[in-house]
Amino acid sequence: MSVIRTPFLLAAIALLPAMQSSPAWAQHPFLSEQQWSNLRREASGTASYENLRALTRLHRVPATPEFDQAANFILERAKEYGLQDVHSEQFPIDGQIHYGLMRSHVAWTVGGARLWQLEPHHTLLADWSTDPIRLADYSHSADVEAPLVDVGAGTLIGDYAGKDVRGKIVLADGVLSGVQRLAVEKYGAAGIVSDMPNQTTAWSGLDTSIVRWGHLDGSLPQGFAFMVSRATAADLRAQMLAGNPVVLGAHVEADVGPGHWTVVTATIPGTDSSAGEIVFSCHLDHQRPGANDNGSGCVTILESARMLNRLIGSGTLKRPRRTLRFIWGPEVEGTMAFLSRHPDIRRSMRADVHMDMVGGDPFKNKSVLHVTETPWSLPTFITDIGASFAESIRDAAAVYTEDGSHEDAAVVENRGGAPGTRNAFIVDETPYAEGSDHDDYDSSTVAVPSLYLRDWPDIYIHTDHDTLEQIDATKLRRVALLGAASGYSFASLDGAQSAQVLPFLASRAQQRLAKGFQRAQLLAQEATLAPDVASFEAHNLMAQMLRRDLAALQSFAAFTQSHPPELAASMAALEAQAATLNGWLDSIAAMRGVHGSTYVPASRTAAGKRVPQRIAEFGPLTFQNDDVLIDRLGPERVRKIKLLNAGSSRLLNAQDSGAIYAYEIVNFVDGKRSLGEIRDAVAGEFGPISLELVGDYLQACEEAKIIAFR
Ligand SMILES: [Zn+2]
Repeated sequence: MSVIRTPFLLAAIALLPAMQSSPAWAQHPFLSEQQWSNLRREASGTASYENLRALTRLHRVPATPEFDQAANFILERAKEYGLQDVHSEQFPIDGQIHYGLMRSHVAWTVGGARLWQLEPHHTLLADWSTDPIRLADYSHSADVEAPLVDVGAGTLIGDYAGKDVRGKIVLADGVLSGVQRLAVEKYGAAGIVSDMPNQTTAWSGLDTSIVRWGHLDGSLPQGFAFMVSRATAADLRAQMLAGNPVVLGAHVEADVGPGHWTVVTATIPGTDSSAGEIVFSCHLDHQRPGANDNGSGCVTILESARMLNRLIGSGTLKRPRRTLRFIWGPEVEGTMAFLSRHPDIRRSMRADVHMDMVGGDPFKNKSVLHVTETPWSLPTFITDIGASFAESIRDAAAVYTEDGSHEDAAVVENRGGAPGTRNAFIVDETPYAEGSDHDDYDSSTVAVPSLYLRDWPDIYIHTDHDTLEQIDATKLRRVALLGAASGYSFASLDGAQSAQVLPFLASRAQQRLAKGFQRAQLLAQEATLAPDVASFEAHNLMAQMLRRDLAALQSFAAFTQSHPPELAASMAALEAQAATLNGWLDSIAAMRGVHGSTYVPASRTAAGKRVPQRIAEFGPLTFQNDDVLIDRLGPERVRKIKLLNAGSSRLLNAQDSGAIYAYEIVNFVDGKRSLGEIRDAVAGEFGPISLELVGDYLQACEEAKIIAFR
């Protein structure tokens, strides 16, 4: 884009910093300008970057010796930084022990592994000692020399037609556990060479040198897999096509069995031990190097901890009322284990700052940092606080990139020659998305609202290219500041701040409602829905948005245990705004011939009036290595759940979104909402869905004894 600078634009640009230096960059109403600049000065991207350098040397698969080395590194740093109650805890796992609803997984110990090509050329393809990502997790011991057979994807029976793979090694690019089930379990192959592609992004397939991290099914008793790049696999296929049989020699020494997960925790005590805790979470596991996923989140909550502890310890920041807790463990599994062992801490948690991938240089790994909202089942004000800090840094960084001014406010990590970039801070706020420990915190039986910070996409996630090379020390510094400022605000927040905080929250709620109206408007005009149904769904969306944002305002009162005098007026203003927007929807409906609907919503039918309540242990129903419904009902029954089978309904308009509906349907079960009200809630959040699909899913949950109907 070429820019012609008119005198007007020049004037506007020149004015911008002066206009914005206050109040947009000062942190009113949560932090004073002095507090913000103290936090900013203390935040170090270099400290995070150097800690990350150490983590990326370790292959951090959960319940392995190298994971424990990583845990020990964090433990030692936390002690060195002067945090309190620094310790690690071990949680036994054997595939049977449960933590909350979640069944534990297995441990894995590797003595060594190598893959050689023996014929027609002699060359080394993989060596655990130098490149552990090339051995798939939960590979079993083996010592074989065998021909290689190409089975395509290897996940369908047809892939094996006319091929004898018994005792041989298969080359496959399908999902690894599926290949294991057919090639190894069913057809007797010795093992697998996999070039399974990485998670799909716009850049997929462009770089064929990438080696993906792979996992076998830890519950299966045999098989091994070596991961190779697409280029290596193409070369092997070309040799076989040319009529040269390929013979491989595979040697693996490994044990799969019982073991333990390790979780490290530390605190910065608040002044009032009964006031609850603010938790910082991340996940310490993943393949080497795993720089962005998730070494970055681990070192960044550690940096937030270091800077807060130093500033609070020195008296520069007032010690907050609530305790700050930091947790490093295996993804989801460590969180569930810790919350299960410490129900007292679980119940005392008031908010979570969760970091999973926060350091990517966007011009390298193509990432956008998303401040991710909580699901609508857990309305909260905390996302607004995190998002406003992110916006402050973003706006200052934008001015800095354009004219070089305001370097301090832009939070650039080039101090003393440090290696951070001068990049813009590419950050936005997005709706709830699944896929990390926040799923547990946000789920209804834990109900700790999570400020979830995540890079997405990352074209190198789960590969050998997720290296320190892709990481920007400037971004690490910005996110450490964002995390520390948010966590400190949550820990300090007091009802006495309501005169500043509630107008801030109310104005953001009004912006959300206005923006959400555009979705409702499209729904009201939706040609594939009958006019009265479209009108109902559009009004339902408005009703759900209003419910959520009223509850978000009320969450401030509950959090601070206060009765803010501004609350009623804030809520009334939001309701008035919704009434106006609903009137506009009525006009659209009238244009489509709807005058006083005859449509009977699901919540008023007999089937829609049944009320489910939760009866099982705490936690959501799906985890890294466990699916509660499959565990309790078996895969056959689960395949019959309509919601989880895409394309089952015209009304389920978003493909592959069954899992996110399922997560929220269970969250909305509170012993008060009827089936029809739960339908309305998820229909507003994700799009119209039939009562039948919701009922069919909850019936499976009833069979699995997760819920009971009152
Ligand atoms: Zn992750």
